[in-house]
Amino acid sequence: MNNNDCLTISKNRWPVYTDATIKKVLEVFENNRFTISGYWTGKKSMEQVFAKKFAEYNGVPYCVPTSNGSNALVVALEALDIGFEDEVIVPALTWLATATSVLNVNAFPVIIDVDPDTYCMDANIIESYITEKTKAIIPVHLYGCMSDMDAVMSIAKKHNLKVIEDCAQTHGSIWKGKKAGTIGDVGAFSFEQSKTLSSGEGGCVITKDTELYELLSQLRVDSRVFTDKTVNYGDLELIELGRIQGSNYKMTEIQAAILIEQLEYLEELNIIREENALYLDNYIKLIPGLKIMKRLPQINRQSYFSYCIKVDSQYFDCSNDIKLLLIREKILKSLRERLGIPQYFLHPSYQPLNTSKMFCPWTKRRYPESISKTEEYWRNLNLPVSSKAVRESIVFHHSILLKEKKELDLIVNVLDEIVSNIKKRKADI
Ligand SMILES: *Cc1c(COP(=O)(O)O)cnc(C)c1O
Repeated sequence: MNNNDCLTISKNRWPVYTDATIKKVLEVFENNRFTISGYWTGKKSMEQVFAKKFAEYNGVPYCVPTSNGSNALVVALEALDIGFEDEVIVPALTWLATATSVLNVNAFPVIIDVDPDTYCMDANIIESYITEKTKAIIPVHLYGCMSDMDAVMSIAKKHNLKVIEDCAQTHGSIWKGKKAGTIGDVGAFSFEQSKTLSSGEGGCVITKDTELYELLSQLRVDSRVFTDKTVNYGDLELIELGRIQGSNYKMTEIQAAILIEQLEYLEELNIIREENALYLDNYIKLIPGLKIMKRLPQINRQSYFSYCIKVDSQYFDCSNDIKLLLIREKILKSLRERLGIPQYFLHPSYQPLNTSKMFCPWTKRRYPESISKTEEYWRNLNLPVSSKAVRESIVFHHSILLKEKKELDLIVNVLDEIVSNIKKRKADI
């Protein structure tokens, strides 16, 4: 391949920003208010402006910004009154915050396997995990797929459970006309660097429920609320209320300023990413040995955090796990060598929670033993589909989906070549 190909593909860059982003951040300095607990300087806070815009974007009345997505999940659980020894059902394949947020309210994360076609929580097995202690389900919309929200909501209704949608990886997906995060009781978002709406760190929760909104608002700012009285320069806008014990989970004004600006082009980028993902799907599904993920028919718009594909273990006659892993590693290595795609933009799947080194609740005295359990307990959970995902999947960061068609073609062609070479020379592996 020529040098040009290598250069274009490796020029990966995320997040994006414009001159308007810089201008918006400068406004924060000019306003001389860096956080909502700072004094009023005559302007509506960036945090409140962003909250209103993001609520509108999702078609719900309420949004409460938080310091990050992990804490968005914590305040969602607390607002729903989930606590000591309650059980919350979470999928095994996710970023660990989905489960650690549950531990952090002293509830127990019941880790269940995922659907092999979407890598989202397997709705067919949820009911078998429900006990009298189960209080909530946290479906995660992972990579570039959505959880089956029809199934999750009907199970939740039948068993009187709360639903928190973990939307950290899906800003703007639409399920039967409704935005992701507006189907369950609360939608929790992350604005961490890698996410499709990003301020480095940041998060928020959205809801339709006025009562929940009031609790969520106080939970993120030490049990305070915005006053409805007139304030003058130098006055505090927050008054003490204390209906529920809060903590400091506030988003800064700088984070909010960046997000206000980024939200302006989220939709435009979502459309490009979706179009390019479907373009890749159309070609990659024709490559023998590779499989694309399934898009459920209820989805009207899919927002992509990752573009994920799988190695077809049957095609390669992978009688054992190691062989599948080796083939996947060879594909990843060749893609990196041929296209110069660095690690952040191309990587293997998440480790399922039960085998993730980062998931180690037994190391912390803060959790009661009944929820932290032992290392042996967690490591021995049997989650075959999630374990297989680790060996078979190839995950591109969403920024790949903002590339020109000719660069997407290059990815397809190189994949095709790599895979057919592997098939020809299987003896080498
Ligand atoms: C990123 C992420 C989170 C946590 O968000 P942070 O902002 O990093 O704390 C939670 N769940 C999922 C699925 C994520 O991808």
